[in-house]
Amino acid sequence: MKDVILENVSKRFGEDVIAVHELNLEIEKGEFLVLLGPSGCGKTTVLRLIAGLETVTRGKISIAGSDVTDTPPRERNIAMVFQNYALYPHMTAFENIAFGLRLQKVGAEEIESRVRWAAGILGIGDLLNRRPKALSGGERQRIALGRALVRKPSVFLFDEPLSNLDAKLRVQMRHEILNLHRQIGATAVYVTHDQFEAMTMGDRIAVLEKGELRQVATPGDLYHKPKNRFVAEFIGTPAINIIRGSFDRQKGKFVSGDLEIPWPEDVPKPTDSSETQIDLGIRPESLLTEPSDSAVEINCIIERIENLGGEHHVYSSRGDQQLVSRISGNLPERIVESKEIKFYFNFREGKLFDSESGLSLRDC
Ligand code: ATP
Repeated sequence: MKDVILENVSKRFGEDVIAVHELNLEIEKGEFLVLLGPSGCGKTTVLRLIAGLETVTRGKISIAGSDVTDTPPRERNIAMVFQNYALYPHMTAFENIAFGLRLQKVGAEEIESRVRWAAGILGIGDLLNRRPKALSGGERQRIALGRALVRKPSVFLFDEPLSNLDAKLRVQMRHEILNLHRQIGATAVYVTHDQFEAMTMGDRIAVLEKGELRQVATPGDLYHKPKNRFVAEFIGTPAINIIRGSFDRQKGKFVSGDLEIPWPEDVPKPTDSSETQIDLGIRPESLLTEPSDSAVEINCIIERIENLGGEHHVYSSRGDQQLVSRISGNLPERIVESKEIKFYFNFREGKLFDSESGLSLRDC
């Protein structure tokens, strides 16, 4: 069942800034949807529009089957968790968690029971008498989560809630938020610019660029079947290699300098052939060091090798073209900086994009 629906939603700030442009998005009940994109792409604005903290310039927003486009935030049954926690310094953790309920004039007993329930879920029962300054970053974020939780909202909105935490705590809080989501079952919309967070947390990820939706899909589909070059380049570390070339009709091949690769059968051949520039995308793990059936050779010079322990990133060049390959496990001895290397690449694993529009030439 659809829970949050955005139909042709646009948001302008003044005359010049189009923060969100004609956004269509349907979020399922109980889904954990991540809004991902570079700084300034409109993620926070989308979240604030869902919360009702901003009004839409055009379009319609529905929550749980009701049109809430003009409904004030407090009547939308949503709760928002912010990056900076937004806790009141002079109040104890208990009072911070209870604050929204007091405003709603919920009875004292009910408040006590809800705060204890949320504290139990979050494991912060022994922190409730402390003020924020006596709490660590992770503990403060748990109090902020508790404050959202006690309102028993039907939709949780998270605005980069983990950005202020160190790397280890981020991993821990990531798991806690997902566990919480499983227990509560409420719909969640989570904003981040961190693709790792998005890939590990989202049931689906909506990728935004310049206020426009580029693709919404599961993490696996975004990685393996990007609809456009922007998504292909934004998702994945190291980033996908892009080789610019064109389709040679006579040869029936993708051609880029002396590199010629048979055109894959499942991709329609461009009609205006050599006029159309094409970008071939190769994921770093698809550049193999051992030959395989139907693989194409790419000769390179190794420039730099990064050893990450469990894998190596091998940076190479082929003329002006830079390529990076990800090699799992031990590195073969012949792979040394400044030496030549032959990579093998199976063209079926390549992504093909129209260079001008950036759109994938494969149906996905
Ligand atoms: P970040 O990751 O840096 O927080 P974001 O993707 O969340 O970025 P938004 O904060 O939604 O992006 O901003 C989208 C665009 O709208 C930006 O160009 C921003 O400068 C602009 N913008 C946001 N709020 C306002 C405002 N109140 N007035 C004018 N422009 C705004």
